[in-house]
Amino acid sequence: MAKLNRYQRNMAPEGITLEEQEKLITSKVLVMGAGGLGSGVIMNLAALGVGQIKIIDGDILEESNFNRQIIHKYKNLGRAKVISAKDWIQEFNPDIKVELDKIKLNEINYYNVIQGYDIIVDCFDSNEAKYMLNDIAIRHNKILIHGGTKGFNGQLTTIIPSQTGCLSCIIPRAKTFKNDVFASFSPVVNTIAALQAHETFKVITGKGELLLNRLIVFDGTKGVFKTLTFSKNPTCTTCSNNNFTLEFHQNIEE
Ligand SMILES: [Zn+2]
Repeated sequence: MAKLNRYQRNMAPEGITLEEQEKLITSKVLVMGAGGLGSGVIMNLAALGVGQIKIIDGDILEESNFNRQIIHKYKNLGRAKVISAKDWIQEFNPDIKVELDKIKLNEINYYNVIQGYDIIVDCFDSNEAKYMLNDIAIRHNKILIHGGTKGFNGQLTTIIPSQTGCLSCIIPRAKTFKNDVFASFSPVVNTIAALQAHETFKVITGKGELLLNRLIVFDGTKGVFKTLTFSKNPTCTTCSNNNFTLEFHQNIEE
């Protein structure tokens, strides 16, 4: 069992109970992407005490990543991001079990990746990958914590299959995707990432109200957050006509 002293301030007044902390310690979270959003999500999950983190990313570290991907040390330039992220976790919180796969997720290789994980955090950086992950999460009844940024702006929501609308309900999936590269700033990316980690924390502990059918939009030019509500689109090609029963498995299987 992890050392509970580490989490004293999680369990102080206005915090969570020992039982809720133990839920974090026995939980497993799948983080899709170890780039900008992935850095912030992984760091915050590790600090909260999530007991097992699985990281998926096929990329190696490039010089241009370091303006925002703050989990990675410069000495790891040229190494796989998943290895670099694991190094950081193990130095910061050795009690955390880390799984990793250095792969670019696709519709063929995803099945084994998601097995045993009920919470997926979307830290991908392309719309194409985000919609693919949305489809996979709906199809396999996984809770998806969506986040994304573009320049000064960001957004996030929590998608629970059969309970909420999905990414395609908010913005219908495009037939083709452009591979445009937009600006990405560390404070914006890490703000959204921190909020994704906070949603994950609430899912696991059951504390607070989740962002269900609510999209938080951060406008970093004005410094404001807006909450947009949406609903499940009955004609959504991704999430309509599914009758899943949500099964949420918390415990790490040894
Ligand atoms: Zn939908």
